[in-house]
Amino acid sequence: MPERVETPASLSRTITRDQGLVWHPYAPLDGPAPYAVRAASGVRLTLEDERGTIHEVVDAMASWWCAVHGYRHPTLDAAAHAQIDRFSHVMFGGLTHDPAVDLAERLVAMAPGPMAHVFFADSGSVSVEVALKLALQFQSAAGRPARQRFLTVRGGYHGDTFAAMSVCDPVDGMHSAFPGVLARHSFAPRPPSARLVVHDGEQHWEYDEVELAVWRDAVWETARLQRDELAAVIVEPVLQGAGGMHVYPPECLRALREIADEFDLLLILDEIATGFGRTGRLFAAEWADTRPDIICVGKALTGGYLSLAAVLTTADVGAVITASDFRALLHGPTFMANPLACSIANASLALLEKRWQHDVSRVASALDDGLQPARALASVSDVRTIGAVGVIQLHGPVDVTAVTRAAIERRVWVRPFRDLVYTMPPYVSTSDDVATICNGLVGAVREVHG
Ligand SMILES: *Cc1c(COP(=O)(O)O)cnc(C)c1O
Repeated sequence: MPERVETPASLSRTITRDQGLVWHPYAPLDGPAPYAVRAASGVRLTLEDERGTIHEVVDAMASWWCAVHGYRHPTLDAAAHAQIDRFSHVMFGGLTHDPAVDLAERLVAMAPGPMAHVFFADSGSVSVEVALKLALQFQSAAGRPARQRFLTVRGGYHGDTFAAMSVCDPVDGMHSAFPGVLARHSFAPRPPSARLVVHDGEQHWEYDEVELAVWRDAVWETARLQRDELAAVIVEPVLQGAGGMHVYPPECLRALREIADEFDLLLILDEIATGFGRTGRLFAAEWADTRPDIICVGKALTGGYLSLAAVLTTADVGAVITASDFRALLHGPTFMANPLACSIANASLALLEKRWQHDVSRVASALDDGLQPARALASVSDVRTIGAVGVIQLHGPVDVTAVTRAAIERRVWVRPFRDLVYTMPPYVSTSDDVATICNGLVGAVREVHG
């Protein structure tokens, strides 16, 4: 019998019970201890560390870019309570309800391009699966059944289920871990980088025209050579998120639209991270007035309260599916259009519509100012912002545990990855909250990496 080790009362029971029992995202069972959340309100989290010490921190991550209105927002709480008092869930096969229909109407009205139909999914990854299926069914119904591959760019991230993974960057997406299962799609080069700069109060995109032309020609050539096999193009518009917080010229979206039209491909825009104002446009597609055929939304859709995503498409695509042999889009999750999630999403989007522009521009200018000092650090290779997104890129990998701890000491919760220490604050953050975040990030990077 191993000797029983008494846990000192001062250690966090939640954390010691968690360790070795529960897997965390992309983390080993015996990895660094997580922090326990004791409370969450507004933009603040109350965290307990391993030793039982309590820290009140500003959430620089908005819970992976979802909690745009902060925690325990009275309007969202009220919407959740009201729907719980009616019904929390019913199946969607053969049944419908106001929360779903209201939300579908709202999404169709908000979305870029003439969207006409909505499919509700239960997570971002599942919505990507559905979008890919929709494109395959569309091509088959349009008499092009051999078109079964997708064209995308390097550096993308579209989720963790198998089809979504297959269009993620092959290296970052760790395709080598699942060699026999992942479909082989077509990867064009990552689009060139761009910078959104403000000049005399006007926003301008700065990028290298030559790089852009070379990129466009490469994608065009790939599409031309593989046209008979390709069903659709899928990309994250303007900002590649989990694939590296890479900002690229909106002009690339115009090029992709032209390529899609030329070679009869559908254009799928994954707006799961960029949708609902994050980049400074309601949808990132609007930076280039792009008219996608299919859009995926998720993350901020419910203000971070519940998992919900949606796939939107045009009347043309819908008509082709309805006229096909199958007649239906072949998917149907158990928790499709969950009424509780839809009610909260309706409340969240109503709030968002009133104030996102004002909020995002306040956060954006506070990030621009607050991250400036990072440019002077020896460990930093680039500092960039777009809308309510701020990124500090280092010359090498971040010491995640040390930077996280150093930021918590400065009252900020941040979760770096690879060579990136970034923030996507809740939109309700005040300029002071954003200043706290920026000081925390810059101070932590300086302390740990120099
Ligand atoms: C987060 C994300 C996804 C996956 O969403 P989940 O809800 O985690 O399944 C897909 N695409 C993009 C662009 C994302 O940022």
